[in-house]
Parts: sequence; structure tokens; C-alpha cells
Amino acid sequence: MLAAIEEAGLTAESQTFLDGENFRVVVPGKKPSILLTAHYDSYAVSQGNPGAMDNASGVAVAILLAKEFKKVPVGHEVEIAFLDQEESGHEGAFAFINNRSPSDFLAVINIDMAGVGNTISILRSLESNKPVRNLLLQAAEELDIPVVATPTVSHAIGADDVAFLANNVKNVIGVGLVPAADVCKGLLYAETGKETPPPDFMVSMHSPEDTVDKMQPAEMVSLANVLQQTIRALDEAAP
Ligand SMILES: [Zn+2]
Repeated sequence: MLAAIEEAGLTAESQTFLDGENFRVVVPGKKPSILLTAHYDSYAVSQGNPGAMDNASGVAVAILLAKEFKKVPVGHEVEIAFLDQEESGHEGAFAFINNRSPSDFLAVINIDMAGVGNTISILRSLESNKPVRNLLLQAAEELDIPVVATPTVSHAIGADDVAFLANNVKNVIGVGLVPAADVCKGLLYAETGKETPPPDFMVSMHSPEDTVDKMQPAEMVSLANVLQQTIRALDEAAP
């Protein structure tokens, strides 16, 4: 990951905390910043889990976006944070936000599980993330990429966005990919608090089966394109 960041001509600064280490890349601009996050730790690495979908995929999409914004910056600063210890309770995300103020961010976009499927998934349709969510929906429509938003927040699956929500950051959104065939099952899984069986694409998660050959690079690029357009629109809409 750090080699890929360096290769892109970007510099990652390290933030260590009790159990781990986050890395942050900054593309300078005016404040508040637009923050992109992706966790780079994976579950049960010692048991041979390669963590391709969860969450090398999100890291790859974040690096792709970092490169794009370095090439053609927006007016606002763009921060890209690669967070550690998501799998053990979002520790990296909490460590990151604990050093910051909610007003530092125009929006926070967390990318998790972005390697399999052609449909963009949005976790948690909240009143507080309506502006960024609407811009994302608009960008997806313009680029003709299907998108589905989890309607309620009752149980929705835990991802690093929870740390930012818990700290009252506005415009926090979690995105990933889901296969079209798994959309209904995926929504049910999220909404029932995992009481229903996981959708097929999630079965390999957290296991040695989460391998890179299952990833869909073209779809990952589509997600990156939608996010890039969302962030450019967000930048233009904000003073
Ligand atoms: Zn994950």
C-alpha cells in the first residue's frame, strides 16, 4: 500500500495509536477538507485471510482517487486516510477523529468492501448525510452506474463511518459495491442486524477465500469515477 502511494508521487504521514497505525495523504486546498477513508487492516490475517475485498479493494479505490485529485485538484483540501484496526472495533477511525474537530470536514466518504459487484451500496441514509448522498446519487445517475442506499439505520452493518457519526461529523457516508443479484439479500442482512444469512458475495469475507482473483477492477474504477464526480460537485457547491 505504501509503495503504491509513493509510486503515485504522494506522501503518507503516519499516525500511531495504542494498537495500530493510520496513514494520511493530503492533497492541499482550502478548509474544511473532504476526507476519504478506507481501512487497510483485515480480519484473521494470521489464518491466511488475504483481505482482498475486505478491504484491499477500498484501499485501491482510495489510492486511485488520491492520484486523480493530485493530478487535477479541487478547491478544497482532500485528505485520504488509510485506517488501521477497523476489524477490532473501528479503533483506527476513532483514533483519527479523536485528534480532530467535526468542523474540519466538509464530508467524509468511507470506502469498504468495494471489490465485488456492479452496484454501488450506500450504508445508512441519514438526514445528516443527505447533501453528499444526493450528490452521489446524481453522479451515479449521470454516469449510469446502479446504486442502492440502505434505507434505515436500525442495524446497518458496522463500518468505520460509525466513528465519524459518533463524533457528530456531518455528511458522513459509507460506500461499497454489491452484485445486483445480492442487493435484496444484502439490504436484509444489513437491516436485520445479520440475523438473516449474508448475501453470497459476503460469504468469502473474513476467510482465506477473500482473494484478489474475485475482484472486479472495471467496477472498482466505475465506483472511483462516481466518487470523483461526487467530490468535485461537493467542492463546487461549497464556498
Ligand atoms: Zn471492512
